[in-house]
Amino acid sequence: MIKLHDLYFKPFISEQEIDTAVQNMSDAIAKDLGDEMPVFIGILNGSFMLVSDFVKKYPKPCEVTFIKLASYEGVKSTEDIQRLIGLTQDLSGRTVVILEDIIDSGNTLEEVHRIFENENVKQLLIATLFYKPEAYNKDFKLHYVGMEIPNKFIVGYGLDYDGLGRDLPEVYQLKTTQHMTNLVLFGPPGAGKGTQANFLKEKYDLVHISTGDVFRYNIKNETALGILAKSFMDKGQLVPDQVTIDMLNKEVERNTGANGFIFDGFPRTYAQAEALDKLMDDKDSQINAMVALEVDDEVLVKRLLERGKTSGRADDADESIIRNRIKEYYTKTAILKDYYAKQNKYYGVNGVGNIEDITVRLSAVIDKL
Ligand code: AMP
Repeated sequence: MIKLHDLYFKPFISEQEIDTAVQNMSDAIAKDLGDEMPVFIGILNGSFMLVSDFVKKYPKPCEVTFIKLASYEGVKSTEDIQRLIGLTQDLSGRTVVILEDIIDSGNTLEEVHRIFENENVKQLLIATLFYKPEAYNKDFKLHYVGMEIPNKFIVGYGLDYDGLGRDLPEVYQLKTTQHMTNLVLFGPPGAGKGTQANFLKEKYDLVHISTGDVFRYNIKNETALGILAKSFMDKGQLVPDQVTIDMLNKEVERNTGANGFIFDGFPRTYAQAEALDKLMDDKDSQINAMVALEVDDEVLVKRLLERGKTSGRADDADESIIRNRIKEYYTKTAILKDYYAKQNKYYGVNGVGNIEDITVRLSAVIDKL
């Protein structure tokens, strides 16, 4: 992912794919033109990189020149095309091939046709590396197209966003979701995830999703989901993955536009971690870190029994259920430490001490992300 000015872009078309498309265009044009010596005309600024690569691949002698037009402002195509440098040589009787980096609305192309209206060229051929069929609203024929792309704003390989990005050798696409901070708050039951999440969500303006809380809400309201979840929760067991994953997806969808999420109590299994990655990926985003509160088992049991005196939670009231929850954590959930450690996203934090001190320790990790 890259950031240009205020916006984030994700990789879209690789150098290799671009190279192949340029080669194919060059081969096709050379084949069609035979021994005719063409004049290739690049449309500045965007096409400078394409023209340079293209003419190096073109197998026969050719002439190269440029005209300079300006159409884009920010990420929107404007109707108003400025002619900054026009034609500087007589092209009558010549075969002219326009080399465009991208054709979207076709406004620039319309201006090109206007420029050539009275030039008496032998033929005017249009070649474009990228073409957005959904955005194109003109009738001019496009003779050579390197690659059709969806109607998304792209940068790189000559294309810019307000001056930046032209130098990139590959192409990036504007992310539909801009930057999010997504944290997995991790640790065994009683580690203090809920307590800490309440501070962190305010501090970092994130949406806190506790799967345990969502289940308890459903139990309280006697929904079908609640009735199903209760049968597992009361025994200190995990609710089945698909039920939990579907519920989490819905919670995330309910919060479009969030700056990011604190996932508390999710993921708890490998399948849930993979589902979360997929969900983040669908949102053009990712999990930035798993921040784990590390607390000794015996401290956990004591804390949960203490909480059970006031929480009203059946699963906090009984020591054997508490121990079962901790066991579920070690057999099913603790493996996720490796899952995130492998991606260099695991951060362990000492979860013993007073609440403020622990918040400071967690914030120190988050601030560095
Ligand atoms: P918690 O409030 O996080 O301690 O969760 C309480 C109970 O809700 C757990 O013991 C599970 O029965 C259930 N639960 C919460 N989150 C999940 C999850 N991600 N996967 C499966 N079960 C969960």
